[in-house]
Amino acid sequence: MLTKTKIYLSSPHMGGTEQKFVNQAFETNWIAPLGPNVDGFEDDLQNFFENKKNVAVLSSGTASIHTALQLLNVGKDDEVICQSFTFSASANPIIYQGAIPVFIDSEPDTWNMSPELLEIAIKDRIEKHKKPKAIIAVHLYGMPYKANEINEIARKYDISVIEDSAEALGSYYYNQPCGALSNMGILSFNGNKIITTSGGGALIVNNKELKDRAVFLSTQARDKAPHYEHSSIGHNYRLSNVLAGIGRGQMEVLEDRVDRRRKNYEFYKTNLNEFDSITFLDEPEGYFSNRWLTCMKTDSYEMREQIRQALLEEDIESRPLWKPMHLQPVFKHCLHFTNGVSEELFNKGLCLPSGSNLSQNDLDRILDIILKSPYL
Ligand SMILES: *Cc1c(COP(=O)(O)O)cnc(C)c1O
Repeated sequence: MLTKTKIYLSSPHMGGTEQKFVNQAFETNWIAPLGPNVDGFEDDLQNFFENKKNVAVLSSGTASIHTALQLLNVGKDDEVICQSFTFSASANPIIYQGAIPVFIDSEPDTWNMSPELLEIAIKDRIEKHKKPKAIIAVHLYGMPYKANEINEIARKYDISVIEDSAEALGSYYYNQPCGALSNMGILSFNGNKIITTSGGGALIVNNKELKDRAVFLSTQARDKAPHYEHSSIGHNYRLSNVLAGIGRGQMEVLEDRVDRRRKNYEFYKTNLNEFDSITFLDEPEGYFSNRWLTCMKTDSYEMREQIRQALLEEDIESRPLWKPMHLQPVFKHCLHFTNGVSEELFNKGLCLPSGSNLSQNDLDRILDIILKSPYL
């Protein structure tokens, strides 16, 4: 009998050893935002980045971006450039700091920040004596952005880049791991990401001093003294030792998770490639995407909605691509440099179920429904 269970867009997928590390936390009573799992998880991540980076594990990807902005001294009324085509969590911390976001549209090769528009924006802001303090670029859906081009522009104008790698752990850009391509990077271990700690994140920096400063800020900025002494404002942003235990187990299976997600992409692409009304985003030469979510672009809003609704009727979750920030009610008033690329992707694009735990039966069910679309 064909059982019709709900299929999620991207659900947690435990590897098996997570509970061992969580149990160790219980057995040793390290139920705190510090302890052996926090250190162990940071070591695992630093090893992943070939010990070229220092990593602080924090309570979320959002907290990591917020801390990165603090490390760069972004404050009230500073302007920060941010990719428009992203999840709101990329941009919200700019507001937390009292700073002002300036949104940049995407280019069609990677769907990420357009280097062309980035330079136009920087020149415009400098002309108006508002030189941006930082650039937040995003490897959306796991596809690396044009890092060489973006870094070159950032260097030319001496602006730091924060690399939002929340969706791109396990992606590579010319053999370099995403998260380590610029001044600072961030990861997310939220429940729907490629690996998860149920909630968590990491800040990736270039040296031990910056990491120590990040840990200081994320543990309420307590100065050295026997009592509680404060000369800066901190946050309660450190990852719990219990959740870090889940992260240590998940790091053991990261490669497998990337492999499975890439196979999902291959399955969808192979079976839908023949239709002109559906396109996928290929990897440019030298780019390796973890294919966190498989995204397809349809011919029209109507076609996308028909497929999304048909899947929903069969209890299958799919989702339109991210709505660009410059179209969001809360950010509409912000300055933006656009070309229509992200708006079109939002109108016609669909994220397909992409979990690393999907069965062949699940994938076949999804494909059958898409193949019945009258728009093909
Ligand atoms: C998930 C995500 C974040 C935020 O991470 P959280 O851990 O959920 O706070 C930031 N940016 C992007 C692009 C994301 O997908």
